[in-house]
Amino acid sequence: MITLIKMRFLPTDEQFSLRGDTLKQAIQEDKARGLVPLMVCATLGTTGLCAFDNLSELGPICAEEGLWLHVDAAYAGAAYLCPELRWSLQGVEFVDSLVLNLAKWMLVHFDCATLWVKDKIKLQKAFTVNPVYLRHEYSQVVDFMNLQIPLSRGFRSVKLWLVFRCFGLTNLQAHIRHGIEMAKLFESHLKNDPNFEVPVKSQLGLVVFRLKGEPSLTKTLLDRLNKSCTMFLSPNEIHKKPVIRFVVTSQFTTPDDILKDWNIISGTASTLLAEKKALD
Ligand SMILES: *Cc1c(COP(=O)(O)O)cnc(C)c1O
Repeated sequence: MITLIKMRFLPTDEQFSLRGDTLKQAIQEDKARGLVPLMVCATLGTTGLCAFDNLSELGPICAEEGLWLHVDAAYAGAAYLCPELRWSLQGVEFVDSLVLNLAKWMLVHFDCATLWVKDKIKLQKAFTVNPVYLRHEYSQVVDFMNLQIPLSRGFRSVKLWLVFRCFGLTNLQAHIRHGIEMAKLFESHLKNDPNFEVPVKSQLGLVVFRLKGEPSLTKTLLDRLNKSCTMFLSPNEIHKKPVIRFVVTSQFTTPDDILKDWNIISGTASTLLAEKKALD
C-alpha cells in the first residue's frame, strides 16, 4: 500500500492453504493484463486459523518467475525450535525473506520481531546512506542503519539474548511443547461437549471453536466471556460464520487453569442455550 503497488489476495484451498496452481494461474492472469508480478507473501501460521501456505509448491514457481518470496511466520515461527514441528518448512530453501515475531510465543517482551533475508546485499543496497557525518572506521561491523529506514535503532536484541541465556534451547522447546499440550487439553474438553464443535484442525497451540446451531450464539458467547473479564478470547470467521480463538502462550498456564477456563466457557454456554430454549 505504501509503495502504491497493486496487491492481490489469492484464494486458499479447503485447508486454508495457498497452493501452487492458484499462484500460477494468478501470475498468468496478471501478465496477460500487462502487470508485472514481483513478490509473493506466504504465511506459515495465519493469525486467524494458524493455516499454512504450501511453500514447497509456491517456492519453485517464485524461483522460475523471479518473484521475491517472503514468509510471514509471526506466530508459528517460534515452534520451529522443535524439530518435530518443522513439517511446514518444506520448501523453505526457496524463501528470500522470513519474519518471526518472538514477542508472541518465544517469551521475549514486546516488541521483538526478527527478519531473516537470504541476500543481505539486496537490503543494504536499498537502505544504505553515506553522508560524511555518518562515516566511521568500523566498516567491518554490521551497521543496522543500512538495513532499515531509520538510522537509529533500539537495542532489542539484548532482550532476545537474555531470553536465550536464561532459558536455553531445551527450556524454550519445552515451553512450546507445553503450550501445544495445554491447547490439546482444552480441545479435548470441547470435543467431549456436544454443544461445541471444532471446525478446523487445531494447530500449534491455537484452538478455534464455536457453538453448534445458529452463528449468532457463538457471537453472544464470545461477548459474554470477554465481558466477564475472566479471560480474553478473540473473534474470527470461517466462511462468514463466527468462531472463537483460544490460544495459550504463557509459560505459567497449568492444566488447572485450562479446566478453570473451560468451566467458565461451558457454563456460560449452558446458560445461554437454556435462555434460548426458554425463548423458543
Ligand atoms: C501477529 C501477526 C502479525 C502481526 O505482527 P506484529 O509484528 O505484532 O504487528 C503478522 N502476521 C501474522 C501471521 C501474525 O500472526
